[in-house]
Amino acid sequence: MKHLDIAEALKSQNEGKDAVVCGWVRTFRDSAQVAFLELSDGTSFGKLQIVIDKSALAVDPECTKLGASLCVKGVLVKAYRGEGNELNAKEIHLLGKCPPEYPIQKKRTTLDFLRGIPHLRLRTNTFQAVFRVRSVAAQAIHRYFHTHGYYYINTPLITASDCEGAGEMFRVTTRPWNAAEKSEADYYKNDFFGVKAGLSVSGQLEGEVAATALGKIYTFGPSFRAENSNTKRHLAEFWHVEPEIAFAELPDVIEVAEDLLKYLIRAVLEECPEELKFFDSFVEKGLLEKLNHVVNSDFAVCTYTEAIKILEEKNAQFEFPVHWGSDLQSEHEKYLTEKIFGRPVFVTDYPKEIKSFYMKQNADGKTVAATDLLAPGIGEIIGGSEREADYGKLVAAMDERGMDKSAYAQYLDLRLFGTVPHGGFGLGFERFVMYVTGMENIRDVTLFPRSVKNIM
Ligand code: ATP
Ligand code: MN
Repeated sequence: MKHLDIAEALKSQNEGKDAVVCGWVRTFRDSAQVAFLELSDGTSFGKLQIVIDKSALAVDPECTKLGASLCVKGVLVKAYRGEGNELNAKEIHLLGKCPPEYPIQKKRTTLDFLRGIPHLRLRTNTFQAVFRVRSVAAQAIHRYFHTHGYYYINTPLITASDCEGAGEMFRVTTRPWNAAEKSEADYYKNDFFGVKAGLSVSGQLEGEVAATALGKIYTFGPSFRAENSNTKRHLAEFWHVEPEIAFAELPDVIEVAEDLLKYLIRAVLEECPEELKFFDSFVEKGLLEKLNHVVNSDFAVCTYTEAIKILEEKNAQFEFPVHWGSDLQSEHEKYLTEKIFGRPVFVTDYPKEIKSFYMKQNADGKTVAATDLLAPGIGEIIGGSEREADYGKLVAAMDERGMDKSAYAQYLDLRLFGTVPHGGFGLGFERFVMYVTGMENIRDVTLFPRSVKNIM
């Protein structure tokens, strides 16, 4: 259908010319001589006012119902009130009726209610704004890496390794249950791949393969985690941005992470001003100030050991008191970034026991060159590290954890043949979208969120 996007119609300079627009009815107002329809097509926040001269044009009542879809031909004119244009209707065609059972009514739209109708919630301003921001952010991710000399790599989603031996992987199988098999090994021998396979929790290990040949790479794709927890920041399927950089140490990794985040926030500020104004008014008061502050200030950096010292003084107020060696829980992450630093903070050099086998072992023998970036309101948004590049040390770390080294022979080869210092990080894309929109639940920045007992 030849038509003009409403975003374009609103700012078009072609006043006095004919235009055709399509969209869904948002409001209808009637008076003696004139009627007004507001039409939205999702291309921007703006709704185009359709002005109907009732003496010249009879309107089908179905065209006035909330949610009905229309195609309208008319003449663009400067809006009588406010900015932009409106359309004096000449013809109105009903594309699709919308009966009163339409669930997107003005009064019932809580986020919780909308989660129950994921196929229709995108008709609301909030969700349209979220997904416009998400799209702009995704484009900005590719643009950032492309202009900084990174290659875009696609790593496999089906994998035989589970990245760190954590038991949170979904299994991939084509076999029905079969009582005849005596052992797990027997079962998998007869399975599609002949070994146990699953959905990848991270593209990092394969990313290292590419980085130690191409120099700088990134992946941007889905990761899967069978997280058995129902939090507001975990999904079973999320999008993961994972740069991996050769000839880089932990400070280089931190520099890239900070630069990338600021670039992405700037892109959203520049390209989605209307959306951010909306979120600032209706979702998170002070959002714009927060984002402008973040792009103009340095992120904080603090070692894990320093962080624990700060937190131990407040142990009385935590549900889970901390000591050196504890994993940081969400309450601790929030305290650090919201109460102590008031901005994003890189926590570095964690105890090796609570981090992955592949992280570079520090000289103190106790910590690894890892970093998590914690952000106010969300907690961890990035997890990264310098990788252990020394063959012997990597083998020792795997032995300490009782890992099966034969499953990582290729990964170990990277340390045998021309090993280099390298590192990278994983940014949870949905967590970034939460941060820039102020949306508090990860389910509300994902088209069809998947989590425990939820696959609508
Ligand atoms: P968390 O401690 O929040 O569970 P993690 O330490 O398990 O995260 P990493 O393995 O470091 O996460 O993954 C890198 C990034 O991917 C995280 O910083 C986060 O932004 C994102 N992420 C991890 N797990 C999930 C998930 N289940 N849903 C959405 N995003 C996730
Ligand atoms: Mn992490």
